[in-house]
Formats: sequence, C-alpha cells, structure tokens
Amino acid sequence: MPSNYDAIIIGAGHNGLVTAAYLAKAGYRVLVLERRELVGGCCITEELWPGFKVSTAAYVNSLLRPEIIRDLELKKYGFEMLPRSPSSFTPFPDGRYLMMGPDKEMTHNEIAKFSKKDAEAYPKYEDMLTRVADFLEPMLTQTPPNPFSMSLGNLWQLGKMGWNFKAMGQAVAGEAVEILTGAARPILDRWFESEQLKATIATDAVIGAFAPPSHPGTAYVLFHHVMGECNGVRGVWGYVRGGMGTVSNSIASAAKSYGAEIRTNADVGKILVKDGYAYGVALKDGTEFLASRVISGADAHVTFVKLMDAKDLPADFLSAINRIDYSSATVKINVAVDRPPQFKCLPGEGIGPQHHGTMHICPDQDYIEHAYDDAKYGRWSRNPMIECTMATALDNTLAPPGKHIVSMFVQYAPYHLKDTTWEVEKDKFADRVFDIVEEYAPGFKSSVLHRIVIPPPDMERMWGITGGNIMQGSMSLSNMASFRPVAGYANYRTPVKGLYMCGAATHPGGGVMGACGLNAAREILRDG
Ligand SMILES: Cc1cc2nc3c(=O)[nH]c(=O)nc-3n(C[C@H](O)[C@H](O)[C@H](O)COP(=O)(O)OP(=O)(O)OC[C@H]3O[C@@H](n4cnc5c(N)ncnc54)[C@H](O)[C@@H]3O)c2cc1C
Repeated sequence: MPSNYDAIIIGAGHNGLVTAAYLAKAGYRVLVLERRELVGGCCITEELWPGFKVSTAAYVNSLLRPEIIRDLELKKYGFEMLPRSPSSFTPFPDGRYLMMGPDKEMTHNEIAKFSKKDAEAYPKYEDMLTRVADFLEPMLTQTPPNPFSMSLGNLWQLGKMGWNFKAMGQAVAGEAVEILTGAARPILDRWFESEQLKATIATDAVIGAFAPPSHPGTAYVLFHHVMGECNGVRGVWGYVRGGMGTVSNSIASAAKSYGAEIRTNADVGKILVKDGYAYGVALKDGTEFLASRVISGADAHVTFVKLMDAKDLPADFLSAINRIDYSSATVKINVAVDRPPQFKCLPGEGIGPQHHGTMHICPDQDYIEHAYDDAKYGRWSRNPMIECTMATALDNTLAPPGKHIVSMFVQYAPYHLKDTTWEVEKDKFADRVFDIVEEYAPGFKSSVLHRIVIPPPDMERMWGITGGNIMQGSMSLSNMASFRPVAGYANYRTPVKGLYMCGAATHPGGGVMGACGLNAAREILRDG
C-alpha cells in the first residue's frame, strides 16, 4: 500500500511529540495527529481567563529526562526550569507549620521543630532512596525485559538487572523490594516518629493513586516522585516558565525543526489494519492518512478498544487490556486569585517562602486514610487531601501583576459517585475544598476571581484519558515495567505489525518524563 508517511503518531501528548522528534531527527517522514486544538495532552498551558495562563492539568516538573532536554535542544525553544525552594509547606491545625526543601540546613531545623530524632534520620532516609534510585533510574530509559522470552538478549538483560540489584547491598536491596511492592505508611512509620513529617511525605505516595498510604503499591508512587531532577539536582521539583505547556511546545518546535508535521483538530476515529498490519488511520470525519507505521500516544483502552476492531486483536491480549485499572483519585481545581493566600500560622503580606512550593493541607496520615474511606464507598472525601501550588510566586509571565493562579490537586474523587453525578457534585466539592483552605488561610475565599473544577469524567472528556486516570493506567506493580501496558507487550510493540505504543500507558508510566516516547522511538528505529 503506498504510504505518504513513514510514521503516523496518534496524539500530541508530550510523549507522542518526543517520539515524533526522535523519528523525524532520524529522517522519518512523520505526521502527528492531535484531536484537540492544541498540543500537549495533559501537559499544557491555556489562557482560561484573560491574562491568566494556566497549567490546566500537570503543574510541576522534575521527571522530564535530561537526555531529552539535551538531545532535542529544548532550551533553544524556550524550555526553562524554575526550581522551588522551599519545595513544600504544611500548615497544621495547632498553628505550627513544616517547611521543607533542597536547603538541607533549613529542612533539618524545620523537622527538628517536631522531632530531633526525625531531623537526624531524614538525610539517611534520603540516602537510602538515592541508592534505590541509582538502581532503578537507568531502567526508566530501557525497554523492560520480557520475562516470558528465552532470547539471549532478554536473558542478558535480566542477568544484568540481577547483578545491579546485588550491587545495592543486602540491606538496601531489602528496602528496594519493599519500595517496589509495599505500602508507604509502614516505611514512614519505621523511619520517623513525627506525624507532621510523615503526613507531608505521604502525600507523594498517594497523589493520583486511588489508594491510601497503608495500601501496597503506594511506596512506589512515593518513589516515582523522587526519581527526577531540576537543573541537575535530584528529587527537586520545579515550575516551567510559561507553564507546563512550554514543555510540550518546545518538544513540538524541535520535532518541526526536524521536519515533523503536526496537525491539531485531527481526531482519529480508527486505526486501519489489513492482514495483521497497521497501514494508517482514519479521522472521525473520514479523512485517511497512510503510513508504514502507526504509533499511539493515547492510552491502551482508547487505542485497542475505541480505535480498533476486536477481530484485529488476539482475544487474550484484548482481555488483558480490559483488565487495566483506570480508577481515578483526583479533582483538579484551577483558581485565579487577586492576592496570595495568607496562612494563619505564618502571617504576612505578598509572597513568602511558603508560596514557592506545594502547600499541603493534610495534618496526619489518618486524615488521608479517612479521606480514602469516603471514596472507597463511592463518595468524594468530605475532608480531602489538598495540594496547592502557586507557580506565579516564581513566574511573572502567567498572570496580570499582583494576581495569582492557585492550582489545587485534591483527592479522593472516584469517577463513579454513588447515587449522584459529578455534574451535580463538582461545585459542592469545590466549595468544601475552599472552606477547608479558608480555615488555614482566612480571606482565601474572598480573593477568588475565577475557578474551573475538573473531576475525573471531565478529565476523560477533555484530555482523552480513560476513567480520568492521570497516569494512563494505574502505577501498581501489576501494571508496571514488563507488565505495562500488559505482559508480553512492554517493548512498545503490539500484536499488530507496524502498530506501536509510545504514551504513558507504556513503561515507565505516567508523569511528564518523556521516557515512554524516547524508548518507543528507539524500538521503532531498531525495527527499521
Ligand atoms: C490533572 C493532572 C495533573 C497532573 N500533574 C502532573 C504533574 O504535576 N507533574 C507530572 O509530571 N505529571 C503530572 N500528571 C501526569 C502527566 O501529565 C501525564 O502522565 C503525562 O502528561 C502523559 O503524557 P502522554 O504524552 O503520555 O499522554 P497524554 O498527555 O494523555 O497525551 C495523549 C494525547 O493523545 C490525544 N488523543 C487521544 N485520543 C486521540 C485520538 N483518537 N485522536 C487524536 N488524538 C488523540 C490526546 O488528546 C492527548 O493530547 C498530571 C496529569 C493530570 C491529568
């Protein structure tokens, strides 16, 4: 069949764009088709209200792979990180607060306000995480081995992993296994005694996951959040100047500079398959584009269930795809305010260090467990865990002078509510969140100029993510590495020849990392 393109990429999420850029750089004729009017998927900046440029979905960065920034020369296209220091601030109901960040002395003194023992233990805990990260991080940009294949390459890779695991040493290796499979809470309970510190750290263990910190699998979510870096400093999260859309726009610019073609408002309705080979796509309006390879950056449910005929896929593969967990946990609330929130426990005016990082409302680990209890019975959490960030504290390009954007990531919020719908509940939920913030920061409610409340079904509708799952599928062990998206297909290939996957549905999963797109491009180029 004559092809106009060497590769068609479905979806201009940042991963699809990374794949497009690497393939175009290698000389492929590449077409990217994006259903929305802008590129970026969940990594976007939108002017939601005049003068306010909002990172509507993802809001902080650390995970984006440094090799991608370098290879694609993203700084040339406007990519710039703004490191956050301090990186977190947790106010407590008793009027105290905990501030933490890359400044080790400040963090030590802050933790010591609650426990001298914890202040001493914290650097050792960070060292332990660093040693586990040294083992795991290289795997982010490797294709996972297939445990069901006896090929020499696979056996070699598995053997190398075993060797690197051994090199961690017995003590750290035990902790590594617990981090990969276990719950965050017992780990934190063993390392620390102050609930204030544990609750602050535990928020990272559950963010985006429909699980409380006592559930197995949450330790990995915690760990996933420490594997990145900001300007070369590991574990530090930052804002991106101009909002998260700058990440996607800079990758798109790089891809275009290598010759890739990107079309927006191009909603793919079908992947075209004949005799077991993918040969193109048809848009919902019927327009067809042909290519010798089709690469999907959409999630596995969208790719295989919505865009394909079941008859073109093996039944056992499809049933594995249908078992992927897309449960969702979060509501995103973006708020424009006419002044920064001022906290009772740290009174002041204007912007202070408390506004630089993530402002957590989560007094202790039990608070998170109770918040989850509501959600597991189909209700939104009456006392939800709230993470607020205010990128405008460090980036004056996002809002009119003196005004700010508060980005709230709030959980738990099940996709299906019992006996009601999100259409009915979303404003009630946001009002409850605002009431809680008001308790800690009086005056917050009267500072609000605009808000947009995005519960899971709206996330699904807006960003095409099944179930509103922010990671294109759960990040539990049964859905990670060699099992992502499903066992036997973690090498970015699919049962259909010429059809590949490149989005967060693949290893190493969700987050603005670009690693899925990078790994996919490498495998596609390997197939030639
Ligand atoms: C609310 C929210 C907050 C988050 N916060 C953070 C954060 O702060 N930091 C972080 O690192 N990560 C965060 N994440 C996760 C991160 O944003 C995602 O994991 C990541 O952006 C996924 O990128 P992707 O390119 O793999 O897929 P996506 O961003 O999902 O992109 C897939 C693209 O495919 C398009 N598409 C789907 N179907 C079709 C079709 N039929 N035709 C054409 N196009 C199609 C979609 O429109 C989309 O553009 C957040 C996610 C959400 C939703």
